[in-house]
Amino acid sequence: MDFYGSTADELRTWATGLGMPAFRGQQIFDGIWQPHALTWSAVPGLPRDLLARLEAVGPLAPATEERRQESADGTIKSLLRLRDGALAECVSIPTADRHTICVSSQVGCAVGCTFCASGLNGVERDLSAGEIAYQVLHHWRHRQVTNVVFMGSGEPLFNYDNVIKAIRLLGEERGLGLGRRRFTVSTSGVPKRIRQLADDEPQVTLAFSLHAADDQTRSKIVPLNRRWPLDEVLDAMQDYSAKVSRRMTLEYVLLGDDNMTVDHAERLAGVAQRFNAHVNLIPFNPVFATPHRRPSEAEIEEFARTARAFGANLTVRGQRGADIDAACGQLRKRVEDAGS
Ligand code: SAH
Ligand code: SF4
Repeated sequence: MDFYGSTADELRTWATGLGMPAFRGQQIFDGIWQPHALTWSAVPGLPRDLLARLEAVGPLAPATEERRQESADGTIKSLLRLRDGALAECVSIPTADRHTICVSSQVGCAVGCTFCASGLNGVERDLSAGEIAYQVLHHWRHRQVTNVVFMGSGEPLFNYDNVIKAIRLLGEERGLGLGRRRFTVSTSGVPKRIRQLADDEPQVTLAFSLHAADDQTRSKIVPLNRRWPLDEVLDAMQDYSAKVSRRMTLEYVLLGDDNMTVDHAERLAGVAQRFNAHVNLIPFNPVFATPHRRPSEAEIEEFARTARAFGANLTVRGQRGADIDAACGQLRKRVEDAGS
């Protein structure tokens, strides 16, 4: 039984299926989503025989913290060890008025972008809905969470059903109660699922990892572009924006010599204007065994100025947690390489 992956309704049904009153299921749901609940015995009101049965099935938490790194800027990166031994990273990013959690949706990633540590060894498996949602609860324990971004390891739209279910679990009123508008799903571009997201969860923000607005450049750095070239993804985004009024985000990792010419800036601005999207420029965070160079501050400034002049609405993302391997997949890779 995946308790963290079950809605209150599902736990009520589970309880009655075992001959218990439905409210036992509700009690379990209410209890396990209390931020302080780390063990079954912290769930209040359970009769002793049920508690013993639950403890016999296994520990309450689907993961334990294997490593924790705290940055001088307050960013905390946790590496969670899942029941089967797999590792998932989640990052807590506190600011004055927000507490954002960056969650992983898969162990590793099949896309294999050339700048990203998550894809270096392919994908190991999908995370379950409970394993995704639990990452938020994990960080909620030290501060209430306000926002969740699917920008950790994995391509969320390749694990679509579990991602949607995790969003719904986190939104449950008697659980954490996070409204849909608190979520951002970031994708490297899966047309069919972009369209589906518009129908299923129109309140969630969509972020598209563009990184280059021409096929020639993009196919080199985002291999998925060879399967679904830009036109196909942009068509899906057109359909998406016909249904959804929320502003979308374009992510653009600044890769030194590879995607920062004046032409690149102009094409980026063209896509941003077409969708009235906001652009996040993300200076490349150097990752072992990737071929790219981090651009200088002057190059970053120049590219931002040029793209703005072509009409892009953009921000340069401040680097958080630079001292703690905060780029997605870096910490897991380091720990796995060390064989620990
Ligand atoms: N797979 C999805 C979501 C996870 S990646 C996607 O690609 O959108 C989330 C973001 O992290 C992406 O925009 C990606 O470009 C960025 N990222 C990955 N590795 C990075 C690195 N080394 N430096 C800077 N940003 C990185
Ligand atoms: Fe996968 Fe996103 Fe990393 Fe690309 S950037 S390899 S899609 S996690």
